[in-house]
Amino acid sequence: MNANRYLRAVPALMLLLPMLSGCAARGAGAPQPGTAAAVSAPQLHPALERFGALRVPETRAFAAAVERGTRTRDGTPGRAYWQQWARYRISAELLPQSNRLEAQGQITYINRSPGALPELFIHLHQNLYARGAPRNEPVPVTEGMKLRRVSVGGRAVEAVDLSDTGRSGYEIEATTMRLRLPTPLAPGDSVLLELSWAFAIPPDGAPRQGTDGETHMIAYWYPQLAVYDDVTGWHTDPYLGNAEFYMGYGDYDVALTVPAGYLVGATGTLVNESEVLTQQTRERLAEARQSGRIVTIVGDTDRRPGRSTQQGAAGKLTWRWRADGVRDFAFAASDHYLWDAAAARVGDADGDGRPDTAMVHALYRPSRRQWAWDRAAEFGRHSIEFLSGFLWPYPYPQSTAIDGVRSCSGMEYPMITCIGGPRDSVSLYSVTVHELAHFWFPMRVGSDEKRHSWQDEGLTRFNQNQAMRDFFRGMDRSEVARNNYLSIAGGDVERPLMTHGDLYPMGTRAFVVASYEKMATNMEMLRALLGEETFMRAYREYGRRWENRHPTPFDFFNTIESVAGRELGWFWRAWWFETWTLDHRIASVTSRGGETRIVIEDRGMAPMPARLIATTEDGVRHEAEVPVDSWFSGERHGTAVIRSKSPVVRVELDPQRRFAYVTRDGHVWTR
Ligand SMILES: [Zn+2]
Repeated sequence: MNANRYLRAVPALMLLLPMLSGCAARGAGAPQPGTAAAVSAPQLHPALERFGALRVPETRAFAAAVERGTRTRDGTPGRAYWQQWARYRISAELLPQSNRLEAQGQITYINRSPGALPELFIHLHQNLYARGAPRNEPVPVTEGMKLRRVSVGGRAVEAVDLSDTGRSGYEIEATTMRLRLPTPLAPGDSVLLELSWAFAIPPDGAPRQGTDGETHMIAYWYPQLAVYDDVTGWHTDPYLGNAEFYMGYGDYDVALTVPAGYLVGATGTLVNESEVLTQQTRERLAEARQSGRIVTIVGDTDRRPGRSTQQGAAGKLTWRWRADGVRDFAFAASDHYLWDAAAARVGDADGDGRPDTAMVHALYRPSRRQWAWDRAAEFGRHSIEFLSGFLWPYPYPQSTAIDGVRSCSGMEYPMITCIGGPRDSVSLYSVTVHELAHFWFPMRVGSDEKRHSWQDEGLTRFNQNQAMRDFFRGMDRSEVARNNYLSIAGGDVERPLMTHGDLYPMGTRAFVVASYEKMATNMEMLRALLGEETFMRAYREYGRRWENRHPTPFDFFNTIESVAGRELGWFWRAWWFETWTLDHRIASVTSRGGETRIVIEDRGMAPMPARLIATTEDGVRHEAEVPVDSWFSGERHGTAVIRSKSPVVRVELDPQRRFAYVTRDGHVWTR
């Protein structure tokens, strides 16, 4: 999601910081398997009161998963790692006249866990809008999702009171459906669920979806199996509005019926192009695929049945989509859309040694040209190409940017993103690259966004910042992130990154700062600590190991440590589990006999090496550092020594501004 709707309170000044020329280079080389290096723990002073412990407080659930062999402490998935799977076959009809969606679906749920499952949990996200549903932000109220039929293995089941322990059936509590099966689902077995449902499409103002009468962004629209994983079991956290999602992987076969003349953008691949698109539209798509140019697929005069789409039977067309191995399916439809498309070069995505391309689509209303939407395909193509080089090749066949309701702000679903306005070109590029970066985290690396939003939003903000530096030639969005973090650092609103997304103080910037800006800042500090090459190798290795899987925070920490060959418990602890701040100052500079001693005072709580540059009278710049373990004993002063016959005339702490110092006071000393 895009955080701008939360950042309205940020003074404009903060978003208009001077652009600095960046010094960070793109990472080099392809991901390589990490070595499970022996990681040594730091030497702790026995009376270590300052930090309590410098190791990460691993949860008992994670430790138990290590015992069971599904997780490891070097960050690789364990030998016994498993994941559930589901196959969704859904047909739905969008009824724009009555603003409704009607659908029916078959879900085959496959139990790959080692235990039998007497119950299943299913999300009914549309019930966020139902009257009386608990939530932590205002939403338009609808009737919620009306279930018309539920069957298990071909036999209808009813709504029952599950406190009556002998009965099978289902019970719905707001966005969560609990379904007790007639017989437990054995390991390796599957069960067929059949449901039909309908709902009123929420109006603009609904988070991450809705209709403004011209466009329809349909998301969180079908009964979706909750995640049952090896660490926690069922994840039944309800959808309350703020925190996002944790979704399992599966295959989708979706038939969407819309009025002829409507264009549809969706997750996956359109498999019946010739049934719904005219020859003209298909020829233009082929040109976009082959030419390398941005091609107008549907222009102003094409937007009607017979020009852009086929006429359809009874004025309707059914668009059939397939998507395998994705964690969700969403779509948008409108008869107002223009359509631009281009091919993005993504590198060797399929591993056959040859470069691949992915299609980039933009669907938008003519009125949105004033918001730079006529550049959306160009922005999307740069985003996909940049991130394919920075991370790893874009793994999906296509990417679609949707001009949607204002309350989408910016929202990601697999291969498709909904963006609301108003915008200018910087803002549209910024939100486009952010949402498209989510196709890596969390779409591909499927973490739990509810409990650990930093694992998707923070990595995405970091990746967005790198792309913006490239597209806008040196724009330093990372500095904006750091200043946004520093604006509440250590204050009474700040919360640690490890806070559940629904447990931040609502109506404050605490969630956005922790999940987006501080995490992006943490990644910049990690990069400074490890060095560019090691950092990129560890970061990509985390993605490689956990692609299409469900990493916990510990899998992230452990992977970085094992690839880097360093114990970083002190870093995770300070910046993820606490709100400790970093505050170093130059206390004194004294010279005697060609040796200058620079004493650094640590007034903060977060341990960090103090890196400085001392300039001598002859113009030479000397790098020096007070190592991080100087602080582990609780010592408040550390010394860096410079040896030079020429006297030191200037000292500056962290001159490249790579660390999130809560103040720059005391950072410069001059003779
Ligand atoms: Zn986001």
